[in-house]
Amino acid sequence: MARSKVYVSSNEVPDKAIQVLRSIADVRINPKDGPPARDVLLKEVEDVDGLFCLLTERIDAELMDRAKKLKVVANMAVGYDNINVDEATRRGIIVGNTPGVLTETTADTAFALMLAVARRIVEADNYVRAGKWVVPWTPMMMVGSDVYGKTLGIYGLGRIGLAIARRAKGFNMRLIYYDVIRNEKAEKEMGIEYLPFEDVLRQCDFLSIHVPLLPETRHSVGQKQFALMKKTAFVINNARGPIIDEPALIKALQEKRIAGVGLDVFWHEPIEKNSPLLKMNNVVILPHISSGSIETRIAMAVLAAENIVAALKGEVPPALVNKEVLKRKS
Ligand code: NAP
Repeated sequence: MARSKVYVSSNEVPDKAIQVLRSIADVRINPKDGPPARDVLLKEVEDVDGLFCLLTERIDAELMDRAKKLKVVANMAVGYDNINVDEATRRGIIVGNTPGVLTETTADTAFALMLAVARRIVEADNYVRAGKWVVPWTPMMMVGSDVYGKTLGIYGLGRIGLAIARRAKGFNMRLIYYDVIRNEKAEKEMGIEYLPFEDVLRQCDFLSIHVPLLPETRHSVGQKQFALMKKTAFVINNARGPIIDEPALIKALQEKRIAGVGLDVFWHEPIEKNSPLLKMNNVVILPHISSGSIETRIAMAVLAAENIVAALKGEVPPALVNKEVLKRKS
């Protein structure tokens, strides 16, 4: 029987994952740095059974039309808003993602953003490097806000939201959350309190966003939501950029309606060079690296590869997004 073919869209995928793919398939890897151009991707998928992709690739009906043999798409990410999952399911294409293995690393980054923006860590580092530290110590130099003992509002109490809550317990924070589904077990075990979204916004000192990007969550933190928040509150987003209405965020910061923001994700990635956010001292900006530890990136890549291998063997992938596709196949 002919071996399966798999296309890998990035030449940075760790070798450990490539070896997993090679155990069962012939693997073609994008030789260029960065994501493949759209026309290159459309050509490359024409003869493959499996596609290993990143969140930078748009996996839509047009691509699936070209990929006549495609059986499985594995995203090296937990979010899959770049994939038209309904369309894949309709065509019997399995979709996999990488939940769980990145939870703790991503929560670490969200917490780091929270500490950095509240305690002005990046701004203070820049201040020193710019030669502005000229008096040894003054009572009000670079003072920030406490994190310890404050109220943390978690928007989306899933895997990463819960991991943030665990960290916040160690900082003696009051924990409140909003999610579409209540988690009464977490409420009891962690002392976390469920509130309607508006009340979370009104009461929190930090809002940490951990919902997936869906039609319902797109721009769900905008002008109306910022207006409800305390002027001293901070917003952290390392979920997906479009969950925040970015122009409304810029306006809220300019009008000092919130105190600051820590961001790992944006409407446009890389961030546009003329974004006003780049000029604001109370904004900490990361280049979408929340899951970026070496251990986690290897684990994500291996899980994505295992999703492809299982699907090509006719087995259920370890991290399957569209379970309905199995019904179509049985
Ligand atoms: P998860 O376990 O699925 O958690 C998401 C939570 O949000 C779930 O509890 C979900 O409820 C809830 N939710 C869904 N729609 C909602 C709505 N309209 N309002 C309120 N809550 C809603 O996912 P996760 O593993 O924690 O990851 C969360 C997101 O983080 C991912 O989707 C991804 O986009 C992002 N992420 C970013 C990075 C990065 O590098 N920046 C890394 C990892 C993850 P249900 O389960 O009931 O739907």
